[in-house]
Amino acid sequence: MKTFKGNAATAVALLVAVCVLSFLSAQSFLAMREPDPVKPSEGFVKRMLSDWFEPLEGTPADTPVYVQDSGVPGGTVMIMGGTHPNEPAGTMTAIIYLERARVTKGKLLVIPFANMTAMGHNSPQEASPQYFHLDVPGGTRWFRYGSRASNPVYQWPDPDIYIHAQSGQQLAGSSKSNLNRAYPGVKDDALTQQVAYAVIQLLREEKVDLAFDLHEASPEYPVVNAIVAHDRAMELAAMVSMELEMGGVPMRLEPSPVNFRGLSHREWGDNTDTMAILMESGNPSQGRLRGRTDEALVLTGEDKAYLKAAELGRLFIPYEGDQPLDLRTARHVEAIKLFVEMLGDVKEGGAVEVENIPSYEEMIESGIGAFLLPLSDDRFDGK
Ligand SMILES: [Zn+2]
Repeated sequence: MKTFKGNAATAVALLVAVCVLSFLSAQSFLAMREPDPVKPSEGFVKRMLSDWFEPLEGTPADTPVYVQDSGVPGGTVMIMGGTHPNEPAGTMTAIIYLERARVTKGKLLVIPFANMTAMGHNSPQEASPQYFHLDVPGGTRWFRYGSRASNPVYQWPDPDIYIHAQSGQQLAGSSKSNLNRAYPGVKDDALTQQVAYAVIQLLREEKVDLAFDLHEASPEYPVVNAIVAHDRAMELAAMVSMELEMGGVPMRLEPSPVNFRGLSHREWGDNTDTMAILMESGNPSQGRLRGRTDEALVLTGEDKAYLKAAELGRLFIPYEGDQPLDLRTARHVEAIKLFVEMLGDVKEGGAVEVENIPSYEEMIESGIGAFLLPLSDDRFDGK
């Protein structure tokens, strides 16, 4: 009897402990659905992706699209981050343009969080941090470190094999939740496929001349520190990569493979008139060789195993012990700046002018946070 009572007390205590732990982890899990506050610079108008594909309205996958039209005739450029929210230099580059850009010719569209549901959770078994923080003048800002895949709460289960609708190409089932395998999208399929469909509608309707999909990749992956360009964007991309090399920013140039379907650099170019560009920087916090995965790794890229791999010649980026988010973001920002500057040279009437973007050197020197407003700023309404 005594033993039974003891067991019952232990069981109740364990049950209570499990309930408390479940409650706490649920709180932290759900908190990730809170969007990162951003402060668009003056002139941006906030729209939603569902404006180009109405069925997305009210779904968790709908995402802001910020539009700044200078009113001066010119071209249209789109900058998209957050296709893979565990590749933060992509998202931060879009945010730098969103919070800084002053467009004086043509039009600029910025989508900071392309796969909104992927922003709201972490990849299982990767031990990634949920957030990272940046020092900004007079405070700190938080940003989510999300997952490569759409949130399974809204799209589950993945099939055993993902069949790309337009080509019949077969990929692992998990690719169904990867926005960058979903283009040109399917309007009556899962949310990821609908988002891809909506992005294609936007590129067409807005007649976007030049469009960027911003990524990061593992330092041991060959396509890193690279521009991947659709056929029609190759000439411009070659000019930009030469200019970057001359400025001391080594950048590979890769043609978009014709047979690899579903990716932005291929399908945006094939299904719309845009010049499609995907860019990759080297992010140790998503690589397979990494050790402890925490906020510090996201921010600094410092990792002993990567240093060893670099010494053994196994990496595709120059690596001397770190690879800061500031550097990775500065690479993307600088490359976009050159693309935009040269757009008018290759496309008649396509010139776009964007001012107030920090230089590569400034971002390395002061960190990208130096160019963002604190949340406490009066101008910051978080919308
Ligand atoms: Zn990616």
